[in-house]
Amino acid sequence: MNKIVLYNTLTRKKEELRPIAPPTVSMYSCGPTVYNYAHIGNLRTYVFMDELRRTLKYNGYTTRSVMNITDVGHLTSDADDGEDKMQSAAKKQHKTPEEIAAEYSTVFFKDLERLNILMPEIVAKATDNISEMIDFVKTLCDKGYGYETDDGIYFDISKFDGYGKLSRCNLEDALAGARVAVNTQKRHPADFALWKKAEPNHIMQWQSPWGMGYPGWHIECSAMGKKFLGERFDIHTGGVDHIPIHHENEIAQSEALEGHPVVNMWMHGEFMLVDGGKMSKSLGNVYTVEELMARGYPPLAFRYFCMNTHYRNKLNFTFTGLDAAKTAYSRLRSAISACKTAPEASAETKKTVADIRSAVIAAVNDDLNYPLALGEMWTLSKLDCREVYELAEELDALFGLELHLPPETATADAADIPQNVVDIAEERFAARKNKDWAKSDALRAELDALGYAVLDGKDGYELKKK
Ligand code: AMP
Ligand code: ZN
Repeated sequence: MNKIVLYNTLTRKKEELRPIAPPTVSMYSCGPTVYNYAHIGNLRTYVFMDELRRTLKYNGYTTRSVMNITDVGHLTSDADDGEDKMQSAAKKQHKTPEEIAAEYSTVFFKDLERLNILMPEIVAKATDNISEMIDFVKTLCDKGYGYETDDGIYFDISKFDGYGKLSRCNLEDALAGARVAVNTQKRHPADFALWKKAEPNHIMQWQSPWGMGYPGWHIECSAMGKKFLGERFDIHTGGVDHIPIHHENEIAQSEALEGHPVVNMWMHGEFMLVDGGKMSKSLGNVYTVEELMARGYPPLAFRYFCMNTHYRNKLNFTFTGLDAAKTAYSRLRSAISACKTAPEASAETKKTVADIRSAVIAAVNDDLNYPLALGEMWTLSKLDCREVYELAEELDALFGLELHLPPETATADAADIPQNVVDIAEERFAARKNKDWAKSDALRAELDALGYAVLDGKDGYELKKK
């Protein structure tokens, strides 16, 4: 097998991947909290997860990937107070937390599909795994790491020697960094909740050895990781915001329980910024994929935009940047897809194509250097032979960008527009290319009657629902 090198946040080094049980690579990715739509920043993190999974698969590994769906326990403050995000959304929208979770999970899965993000082998809801979480907390208490207060069960971070090793902060830093404890029964301000006791009006609650309650957010990932991947696994991913609290706490819980390290490599995707700053509802700069689509950006143009920046670099989102990505992406697809009918390459050009293939594989196997790999695809697109198309088709297993297919001609995802409408639009596009204006006008009238407007561009068209 080819050598794959990945950056491990824990050691701050690139390391060769050496799976515990090859050819399987076991990995866990922190999933979304489904109290709202996933924004494009969240989705950048899942594009990174997809780059990793596709790279592993392309190299012949079998992935056993778990992604959780947080549908309980993620509080509005990481300091174990505030309301449960699910409960607060449910109240605002006059729905149950289950309805909220179902609604936003469905949209999230649709977004993954639109962005060609392959579904992890195992997708697990927190609420389906409560008994595993309770068992986990019980064992931590038995081993002396957990203690009870009036409002819950807490993890005593002073008992765990390695606390802070991922973010490289020591116990004193953690204590100083924690807000002055609201809960005076906590032994240390940075101790975190494993289990919270529920007030009677709390909507989601389960029977436990400590009365009715609900799990802390961090325990979900530790318990589901153990359930589906066992006491040691290869890779854990998430966004960089998870390093100092969520993943530090996961390490503390899991290693305290098992008595040894559980995750071999920790990998984190850098943040997406908007106009150079943080995304926030109050600034009105939190976008969803659906909003991008409504503004005429195909989801895969956004995927291309993400893949063009290395996952460990910050990515600044601007509409100017996305416009440039959309144009470049469309040009790259045009050039490559046109090669489907090009003649066979000369022996010399075949060698160039083979060298490009090797360079792409070397790039992605070097800590997922997809920007470099895309640069190679641009070099490829300058050649004019059938092998260009064939290689892009083969490498789509890595890129998931459909570079071998003609550029998307409609702004909306084809799946959102009925197939008969897409067919008429395509027929009309062909008629226009043949300068058959009468037929083109007749088909436009047909689209109009079906409720769709068509806007012609230089080398394509946009189809819009009226
Ligand atoms: P959440 O639903 O808040 O748990 O977040 C889901 C995933 O998105 C986590 O892995 C976060 O680290 C990640 N994430 C949140 N905000 C951003 C952002 N602006 N850019 C990239 N990833 C993000
Ligand atoms: Zn997690």
